Amino acid sequence: MRISIIGCGASGMTAAISAIRSGADPAQITIYEASDRPGRKILATGNGRCNLGNEYLDASCFYTSDREGDEFLDELISSFTAYDLKSFFDSLGIITVSKNGYLYPRSMQASSVLNALMTELNSAGVQPVYSSVVTCIERSDDGFLLKVNDSQVKCDRVILASGLGSGGFEIKDSDPAVMFGSLLKNKNRFRNNLPALCGLTVSEDITSCAGVRAKGRVSLYSGDEILGSDEGELQFTKECISGIPVFQISRQASVYLDMERYVTVCIDLMPEMTSDELSSYIMNNINTHPDRKIYELLNGMINDKLAKYIYLKAGISGRDEVSKIPSDNIDRLITLYKDLTFTVTGTESKEKAQTMCGGISPGLIDKNCMLKDVNGAYVTGELLDIDGKCGGYNLYLAWATGLIAGRSVMK
Ligand SMILES: Cc1cc2nc3c(=O)[nH]c(=O)nc-3n(C[C@H](O)[C@H](O)[C@H](O)COP(=O)(O)OP(=O)(O)OC[C@H]3O[C@@H](n4cnc5c(N)ncnc54)[C@H](O)[C@@H]3O)c2cc1C
Repeated sequence: MRISIIGCGASGMTAAISAIRSGADPAQITIYEASDRPGRKILATGNGRCNLGNEYLDASCFYTSDREGDEFLDELISSFTAYDLKSFFDSLGIITVSKNGYLYPRSMQASSVLNALMTELNSAGVQPVYSSVVTCIERSDDGFLLKVNDSQVKCDRVILASGLGSGGFEIKDSDPAVMFGSLLKNKNRFRNNLPALCGLTVSEDITSCAGVRAKGRVSLYSGDEILGSDEGELQFTKECISGIPVFQISRQASVYLDMERYVTVCIDLMPEMTSDELSSYIMNNINTHPDRKIYELLNGMINDKLAKYIYLKAGISGRDEVSKIPSDNIDRLITLYKDLTFTVTGTESKEKAQTMCGGISPGLIDKNCMLKDVNGAYVTGELLDIDGKCGGYNLYLAWATGLIAGRSVMK
């Protein structure tokens, strides 16, 4: 049985390993990879440390625009647990360690994960075919016909593991909607893919805050509707607000901006205090040291670049003695510490995003990851219209679906 796998990323490699372990002849497996090397994205994961999964697995850690996706996720999580994930890596010689539930290779090196996967494949005799772009897949009488670069290739089973292009490796002539279009009866079930887990661009001039890292709670709104909220370390670039809490709410921003909705982001720079507590803290300080300048008084509360940005917005000069600052401006300052609002104009590009939302509807596949209408065609990883939160969930999805598709291909 000839098995073609499109993409030598996390899910494609896992699918190949799983197929071999389930009895597939390695000589009959071909992995087509558009890039000149395998698993480029794996190397970038977890800042080079590869947060490969999470001990806490629940459908609420994932998003999908498809209600049937929830059923698929429940089934996936119960059939492929965190224990199964650790056992899989154990079988590759990778010891996993947990940092507050976040799973990493003990080496803390993403390269060791990639090396383990490639060692397993190479020792079985599978050499991926690099610089091979699959541009089209069609059904033939007895299987599938793939267009790879300028050639046509036949196979009996095909595993679609090409991802959706997040992470900076743009592939010419590779549009997943075109590539798989002829396999999908209902084209609407391939949802528009949008960047997720990425920074947000804002209309305000934040160049003076570039480089700032600050703790805070970030909340995303469309009008009065709160779309998401998260807390942690925020990062500012010249045009972007970023950091893990922003990543966690970014897919909602993507979806709402795509619907042309007005989206704002509000940052609470002092989430550990209520507005009243902050107000009495600042007022006490002012009353105790009326002759001090504001930057002397509030020194150490938040990053000084960010503080200067806020003084400017509150109409306060850092050089003013606090007793001479009108109370309205002090009130404004306190409001800004708790509710610094920006208008979101967009997301970072898909090349900068960690994953994408959208893709092939999970309602189209069965629990073996096979397209219900196309016997022998399987879908794995990012290509599915499921995206996980930060915390190892996207790699979990790639390993889990890769393993399931690989072992099902032999059934
Ligand atoms: C910077 C960064 C950090 C991340 N960190 C984490 C993390 O710590 N934890 C986590 O869980 N997730 C993380 N992710 C997300 C995770 O890397 C992805 O969810 C995962 O790699 C998806 O695996 P995949 O196999 O579905 O797709 P991919 O890894 O994208 O692999 C698809 C492969 O298919 C190839 N391909 C595409 N089109 C074609 C074609 N037409 N023909 C042939 N080949 C093709 C691509 O070149 C690629 O090699 C991160 C992502 C990025 C970008």
